[in-house]
Amino acid sequence: MPSQITNYQCPSCTGPLHYDGASGKLQCDYCGSSFTTAEIEKIYQAKLEEAEQAAIDEATQAGGENNAEEDWDSEQNIWDAKQDGMKIYNCPSCGAQMICDATTAATSCPYCGNPSVVPGQFHGMLKPDYILPFRLSKEQALDSLKKYYQGKKLLPKAFSRTSHLEEIKGVYVPFWLFDGKAVADTSYRATRVMSVPHGNEMVTTTEYYDVRRSGTVRFTRIPADGSKKMPDDLMDSIEPFDYTDLKPFSTAYMPGFLADIYDVDDKESFERAKTRSSTTALEILDSTVSGYSSVTPRERQVHVQRERTVYALLPVWMLTTRWNNKNFIFAMNGQTGKFIGDLPVSMGRYFAWFAGIAVPLAGILTVLLKLM
Ligand SMILES: [Zn+2]
Ligand SMILES: [Zn+2]
Repeated sequence: MPSQITNYQCPSCTGPLHYDGASGKLQCDYCGSSFTTAEIEKIYQAKLEEAEQAAIDEATQAGGENNAEEDWDSEQNIWDAKQDGMKIYNCPSCGAQMICDATTAATSCPYCGNPSVVPGQFHGMLKPDYILPFRLSKEQALDSLKKYYQGKKLLPKAFSRTSHLEEIKGVYVPFWLFDGKAVADTSYRATRVMSVPHGNEMVTTTEYYDVRRSGTVRFTRIPADGSKKMPDDLMDSIEPFDYTDLKPFSTAYMPGFLADIYDVDDKESFERAKTRSSTTALEILDSTVSGYSSVTPRERQVHVQRERTVYALLPVWMLTTRWNNKNFIFAMNGQTGKFIGDLPVSMGRYFAWFAGIAVPLAGILTVLLKLM
């Protein structure tokens, strides 16, 4: 079976390499040597091409003939895995079998710990244009989680004490970045009310205005993740990313991290980017209608045009914890450290926290009732 996986091993001692965000280099866990991404790319160039070709050959073969029989010859569990859309690879370091999601592009061998990249996953349309390397380490992600706990008043005390971290992983998440423009046309009915004293009386004049606005808003690199696995709201919340650090795509940034390829295409993802750019364009036009006593929007039209799309892998630390038999997911921007997550709300503490507010409110209500 042709090897479709490339392990990134230290050229000095063959230990596993991992990409270190702080230094921007690949480091060996065993002998401490470090290498630039360019050095590693040079060494691995031939192996990557070989592995990519192996993947293409296998895909062509599978498409050309009916190999159902071959599948049945394999072990039952392998056949099941294939049915579920999983892929099976052999670790080149220890030979163990790895069962991966169809979208897995980089992982590490669960048996020997060697970082593995699946170059065939980046063939053709699936090849990203850019990669944004991780800058923050696992330790920094864990620190952020602790700080996040501390700032939460509604967090049950037992949660931070007893919940234990199930998993922490650095993932290169597939994103589409859209450039384009939103052309917006809006109209409003507005009034201006003026009161002028006239003798003992006030004279109020109301002027009515028909207000129109139109404008073009250009947008660059509006991100939308292309992964079904990743919760969209979580991915939206850890923005923004600083795109000045984008590097031309290379698998040399991947050792030590997981990577997925997209399973939501650019067309589908664009719908999300479109909604965002329309909303922004309308907000900008709305903000220019000022100086009136009242403004009521009437017609609102936005036409969003897509101009350029790039496919990039962006760095995200994913943390999951378990508490009271429930899973909680947290995400941290692997470049900026922006942290977001879902935390359990303790009802006991919720009421304790609101008690201080609830009493005066009740007081006001009573006063109002008496007045009526
Ligand atoms: Zn080494
Ligand atoms: Zn292995």
